[in-house]
Amino acid sequence: MAVQTVASSTDSTVDLGPAAALSCRECGHRVPLGPVFACEECFGPLEIAYDFSGYDTEGLRKRIEAGPANLWRYAPLLPVPADVAGKPNLNPGWTRLVQADRLARELGVDAGRLFVKDDSGNPTHSFKDRVVAQALEAARAFGFTTLSCSSTGNLAGAVGAAAARAGLRSCVFIPHDLEQGKVVMAAVYGGELVGIEGNYDDVNRFCSELIGDPAGEGWGFVNVNLRPYYAEGSKTLAYEICEQLGWELPDQIVVPIASGSQLTKVDKGLRELVELGLVEDRPYKIFGAQAEGCSPVSAAFKAGHDVVRPQKPDTIAKSLAIGNPADGPYVLDIARRTGGAVEDVTDEQVVDAIKLLARTEGIFAETAGGVTVGVTRKLIEAGALDPTKTTVVLNTGDGLKTLDAVAGTGLTATIRPNLDSFREAGLQ
Ligand SMILES: *Cc1c(COP(=O)(O)O)cnc(C)c1O
Ligand SMILES: [Zn+2]
Repeated sequence: MAVQTVASSTDSTVDLGPAAALSCRECGHRVPLGPVFACEECFGPLEIAYDFSGYDTEGLRKRIEAGPANLWRYAPLLPVPADVAGKPNLNPGWTRLVQADRLARELGVDAGRLFVKDDSGNPTHSFKDRVVAQALEAARAFGFTTLSCSSTGNLAGAVGAAAARAGLRSCVFIPHDLEQGKVVMAAVYGGELVGIEGNYDDVNRFCSELIGDPAGEGWGFVNVNLRPYYAEGSKTLAYEICEQLGWELPDQIVVPIASGSQLTKVDKGLRELVELGLVEDRPYKIFGAQAEGCSPVSAAFKAGHDVVRPQKPDTIAKSLAIGNPADGPYVLDIARRTGGAVEDVTDEQVVDAIKLLARTEGIFAETAGGVTVGVTRKLIEAGALDPTKTTVVLNTGDGLKTLDAVAGTGLTATIRPNLDSFREAGLQ
């Protein structure tokens, strides 16, 4: 089946496969595909509008199943050219979905019903490779020569690596006080890494300024001027989960929230699969997870507000530490529409959850994974999450990047190299 080229409703000549235009989430105003992210009419966020009209369900399913073992198997549903897999790209995705029976037992979930989608298995060990893979293709299509971003850590590494692989320059911006593991991961690929004296929200504001300035000309900021393309990468989490469940929707899914982009696109991905007939339509609930020290969306959810009041982050879950989340209001809509919730956990609960997941399933999560597992436990205890239903918890990053969170975990004993000493330690 041929991938649709750009629909004639726009005069764009950019070939981004089934992507037809950019459309405003607030007012529906459409503009041709380009490196723009805010509506000229109402300043609402722009997102990709597709033309999927050429697809028949069975043909599409077969094509996906015959595709590569990475996220390009879903290229017909993404804003990328048809031949994307042939270009240098990190080709992330198709990470494992782990049936987590031992964790289920600890949490009181029915056997066979709990799954962890483990995105630590991506090339730079976080889910961010998915979004950067899309943004890179858009950057190529628009002729950008420098790849950039504002980052809480994982994105910086993903951009550095993707740019290295593609032979582009990269220059990325992070808060100056991130975890050492994240700094090294971002720097090692040889791009420029700039620490900003401030928190993520300061970094983000600076990047917006740079885009409007001649100094930023030719720069593709994956999560700012390329954000509509970048964001679509998160849909592939939803696609993979459903395909790995045998083309079925999960009943409940627990997603971490930083800017909220991932959660909104997981929902978009699930809805697209229903519309395309790839999964049977039935209700699902989306739950959002935050750390208490940066919980603006959770606070708004609990207060019944539909606006999100910004917070000053103070948590060990630095990858989620966005105090003014751009997609916060949309997250609230989705949690309420699907019958889910948004909840938060303390840093101590995050650490406990990291250890619980490691000890029950052999999965070492970064702090963001501690947030989702911790929130899952809290929601089950509160009766908000049904332990008899199929539940997927996202682990979006690797524990090796946030070793400080579990500092103090170490040697059980130190012994001399002889059996007497071993026996004395009481380990037999
Ligand atoms: C960026 C990130 C997220 C989610 O970010 P959104 O801005 O909400 O899309 C989740 N987990 C990890 C580890 C991240 O780095
Ligand atoms: Zn608009």
